Amino acid sequence: MKNFALIGVAGYIAPRHMKAIKDTGNKLVAALDRCDSVGVLDNFFPDADFFTEFERFDRHIDKLRRRGTKIDYVSICSPNYLHDAHIRFALRNGADAICEKPLVLNPWNLDALSDIEEETGKRVYNILQLRVHPSILELKKRVEEEYPKRDKKYNIDLTYITSRGKWYFISWKGDLNKSGGVATNIGIHFFDMLIWIFGNVQHQEVHYSEPLRKMTGYIELERANVRWFLSVDRKDLPEEIKQKGQRTYRSITFDGEEIEFSGGFTDLHTVVYQNILDGNGFGIEEARPSIELVYRIRNIKPVGFNERAHPLAVE
Ligand code: NAD
Repeated sequence: MKNFALIGVAGYIAPRHMKAIKDTGNKLVAALDRCDSVGVLDNFFPDADFFTEFERFDRHIDKLRRRGTKIDYVSICSPNYLHDAHIRFALRNGADAICEKPLVLNPWNLDALSDIEEETGKRVYNILQLRVHPSILELKKRVEEEYPKRDKKYNIDLTYITSRGKWYFISWKGDLNKSGGVATNIGIHFFDMLIWIFGNVQHQEVHYSEPLRKMTGYIELERANVRWFLSVDRKDLPEEIKQKGQRTYRSITFDGEEIEFSGGFTDLHTVVYQNILDGNGFGIEEARPSIELVYRIRNIKPVGFNERAHPLAVE
């Protein structure tokens, strides 16, 4: 049985990590959050020690180490801009880190983490759960078999509109320096998955950008051209989706064919954890291409709508 500590335990995503720790037969021994609304711990690990101050958490982890209780993994569910600091804490304490996406905001943060991996001999793992989604695995297999026999790239339209209320813009998610904005915070899942299946980025354009609310653009990958549109603004939902009272519209088309992957989302964190425990898992170099892409997307100047624009974004 492995011992875990968790940072950011009061947040939205933390229960998926606690479930993964529990379902893989392991134990949460200590948790940290600045906020003390952590009754959710009772659903998973009521005996875990809980801290609201980093210094006391640090002292406790150090005490455990000196008394012979090793923390094997630190799970990191804190806001994006704190990930690299929390990863360093994990590695310096002799634990591997299992960190939420995006692993970091800027590519050079990855280099610093690689150095610490080398210094400590400990590893950094990233939750990139779409890579273990059954439909995405099937698509990857299909592309690997089919692409060598084709004479042209695939055409992909990626549309992800997930409405968020006013709170979103007050929270750290609505602060560009803390979350990175929609392409980084929400798009990273899809960009990582597309690069993983369709190859490296050869060209990127941003057509329109309100970085915290909506962004749209175009990327050329080795095996596909992708028109993408990401938004957290409910006004962008297609009319028929609004009529049905739904708040999210997700669509990926592949030469016009819809890729169905709306189901099967719930236990993907557990699958990622099991892979890590089995000696696999996605490390710094796996995360790098999508971190580099979203960094460029955040920083290049939008060129305006052109013939490569996403059709829904232009409307
Ligand atoms: P959240 O705001 O609900 O939770 C973050 C938690 O971190 C909060 O409880 C907050 O109090 C705590 N926190 C903030 N600063 C801290 C600090 N210095 N020390 C300790 N705790 C601190 O956010 P969330 O939606 O749970 O997102 C957390 C992470 O998970 C983010 O990196 C986000 O991008 C990622 N996420 C991943 C997925 C996914 O599908 N894989 C989905 C949502 C969020």
